[in-house]
Amino acid sequence: RKLVGKLSTGCVEFDEMMGGGIDTQSITEMYGEFGSGKTQVAHQLAVNVQLPQEQGGLNGSVIIIDTENTFRPERIEQMVAGLSERFGMEYDYEEFLKNIRVARAFNSNHQILLVDSALELANELKDAEKPVKLIIVDSLTAHFRAEYIGRGTLADRQQKLNKHLHGLQRFGDLNNACVVVTNQVMSKPDAFFGDPTKPIGGHIVGHTATFRLYLRKSKGDKRIVRLVDSPNLPDGEAIISVTTPGLRD
Ligand code: ADP
Ligand code: MG
Repeated sequence: RKLVGKLSTGCVEFDEMMGGGIDTQSITEMYGEFGSGKTQVAHQLAVNVQLPQEQGGLNGSVIIIDTENTFRPERIEQMVAGLSERFGMEYDYEEFLKNIRVARAFNSNHQILLVDSALELANELKDAEKPVKLIIVDSLTAHFRAEYIGRGTLADRQQKLNKHLHGLQRFGDLNNACVVVTNQVMSKPDAFFGDPTKPIGGHIVGHTATFRLYLRKSKGDKRIVRLVDSPNLPDGEAIISVTTPGLRD
């Protein structure tokens, strides 16, 4: 087992809550309502992972499995500009974009298969200047939620989701990479999925994900990130701001 790496979120409180940053070789699940900032955090991590270690990165590249078509290159451009502001040096946005490989997943089976493709690609890039150090699945559960409808299909859905998560864990282990997945929860109680504060995927996602982060909106651009039921860290909350140049304290 390799030494666990830490990827900085760029936010002091958030990093401290995570014991220094997002761990490699673990799955970190971000769940929250629509608009709570899950995709924004994902974009920021896709930028940060490329930084050298002394700037909180892992000197790596990233694979994004985009299931809702919410990846925005323009957002990367804004966040890279935000880096210049933070570190007082110039960064090339095109370089950052080149190290972000985005794959659209058209349905849940395709999404699962894309992890195998990601494993192959990461293997090819093992000795590259920037090996793959982060895989993001945004959203982990949207296709599953849309495709598996009705009580009878629940066990089937959980089994597929479980297999998918194991594939992702394997990716994290083999590449000493971070695995970040998002999971939307509903603002109103849902007749089928029940308690709105409990993410879909229920306890299977819960038990596989090592770190579970509950995001919610606060005043203005502020977001509250809560670490829930970590095996080795105290529960805690961090406040972050989602701004045009990126995540800030
Ligand atoms: P989720 O993925 O949890 O549904 P998002 O990560 O897409 O939510 O968050 C969307 C929110 O992020 C917007 O409502 C806005 O507050 C903020 N946001 C998105 N783009 C920008 C931007 N360019 N500048 C500042 N804030 C932004
Ligand atoms: Mg989103």
